[in-house]
Formats: sequence, C-alpha cells, structure tokens
Amino acid sequence: REQLSRTPATTQTVTLDMVGGLAEVVAELRQIAVSFRHPEAMARWGARRPQGLLMYGPPGTGKTMLSRALANEIGADFREIRTPEILDKWLGGSERNIKQIFRDARRYRVPTLMLFDEFDSIVSYAGAGGDAASQALNAVAGIFKQEMNDLIEENPNVIVVATTNFPHRVDDSLIRSGRFDVKISVPKPDEPSRAEIFRKMIQGLIAAHEEPGFTMFAEDIDLAALAHASHGMTGADIKEVLRRVQLTKAMQDARTGGNATPISQEELLASVRELLAPR
Ligand code: ATP
Repeated sequence: REQLSRTPATTQTVTLDMVGGLAEVVAELRQIAVSFRHPEAMARWGARRPQGLLMYGPPGTGKTMLSRALANEIGADFREIRTPEILDKWLGGSERNIKQIFRDARRYRVPTLMLFDEFDSIVSYAGAGGDAASQALNAVAGIFKQEMNDLIEENPNVIVVATTNFPHRVDDSLIRSGRFDVKISVPKPDEPSRAEIFRKMIQGLIAAHEEPGFTMFAEDIDLAALAHASHGMTGADIKEVLRRVQLTKAMQDARTGGNATPISQEELLASVRELLAPR
C-alpha cells in the first residue's frame, strides 16, 4: 500500500495536438494550461485558477490521454492514482491511504497533475443508504474532501483531475462545493471526429515508423470511409483496429523477409469490421 504514494512521476509525450475531435474540450484544457503557466496574469485580474477537474464519459474516449496531455502542456509531472487501489477493506485503511497521498502531494515543489481514475469508486451515491458499507464510503469521501481542501490551500503547484464513467455516482457535495470546479464531458466521437482520430493516429504512426524505403500505409487510405464504417467506436477502439493491422503486417513481414505490402484501405476496413463483429 505504501508504494501507492511513491509511484514515480512520469512525463509522457502526449500532446493536445494528438487528440482527435473534442475541439471544445481541447480548447478548454489549453486555457487551463495558460492559467497555470501565467499566474501573474491571473493574479493581476484576480482570476482564480481551477484546482479540480472532473472528466466524465464512456470508457476509451480519451480522458486519461487528455489528462496526460494537459500535464504536458502545463509542464507538470503526471501522477496517476488508481482510485480503487486506495480503497481498503479494513476499517481506516482507505483513510490512511488517502491521507498519505495528500501528505506527499502537499510537498510537491514542481507543478504536478494528480489523476484519480475510476473516481466514482471513492464517493458515495448522493443520498446513499444508511447501511454500514455506504456509511464507510461516506466517511472516505469526507476525508477526500477535507484533504483536497487542505491541499488546494497549501500547494498551488498541484492540480487534481478525477475521471469517471459514471458521473451520476459521484457524490454531489464533492462536486458542488467547488473542489471540482471544472466539469468536462468527454463523449464518444461522432463521424467527423473519428475521421480525425484515424488521421492523427495514422500520421503519428507514419511519423514514428516510416523511413526512406519503408512505406507503412498505401496511397488509397480514405478517412471518411473509415469514419463511416467505424460507427460507435471510441478512440481506444480505433487504436485497437490499427494495432491489429500492425501486428498482421509484422507477421507478414517476418514471413516474407521484409516484403510486406503497405497497409491498405481494405485491410483497415476488414479490421474495423472484425472488431465490430459480435463474438
Ligand atoms: P477509461 O474511462 O476506460 O479510463 P479513457 O477515457 O481514459 O478510458 P484513454 O485511456 O485516454 O481513455 O484512451 C485510450 C487510448 O485511446 C488513448 O491512449 C489514445 O491513444 C486513444 N484515444 C482515445 N480517444 C482519443 C482521441 N479522441 N484522439 C486520439 N486518441 C484517442
């Protein structure tokens, strides 16, 4: 349990430019980043920087990616805390874990973004029942609230982001009381957004892997058709579509001694269809 609070800070090179769709969300995060990078401007105008962000939406829509990209944009360390892991079945264990995490956080001297994922696991349903389990959860949520308050007052270097697939489960009082003063919806991508996600991911792969004499993608890639075929998919699904094709190609490459053909539109569409097919 102790190592939870000692997870090394990581900086990943994920940028907001890599996010497909979600233009408004990205714009809002850029603004938040500016508020961190320019405390003097904020102070001059008496403007208050957000301290807590709640990102909510279906799995795989990019909430974690956006958090990493925001940290990167601010120039902050990124520390991810898997919320369910701090919950302990023993009385007092969860409280101790939370206190330890925040005690450490109060000492961060460099800008740090703390991400609590699956945040709904920590907080009770609004108006939860009076049984022992929900009372215990209420206590945990109460401690979290208190700790976050203290942190906000003591350490302006820290920004807290919480993500959840179930925003309605996150206790109202935690949100209403201003601890999470920015709430951001991260929905599934629509068709134009999926086209942009395909484009950015493919461009990213080309930038990372193509070199003189090695072409990764054929000329015939039709992003609109891919976007259309991938109805209902998230960014994480699209990443999986590409991952499968990359793997198939690597196998072909191995078999043929480096003579695999570039990834074609038909192969991408087949991968989309395969992922969508009910098992
Ligand atoms: P969960 O709610 O399950 O934690 P999440 O919303 O945090 O999911 P991520 O883990 O950020 O989703 O998404 C998984 C991967 O999918 C990301 O690392 C990224 O590569 C890709 N991805 C998701 N959405 C997008 C997007 N809009 N643009 C580009 N890539 C995306």
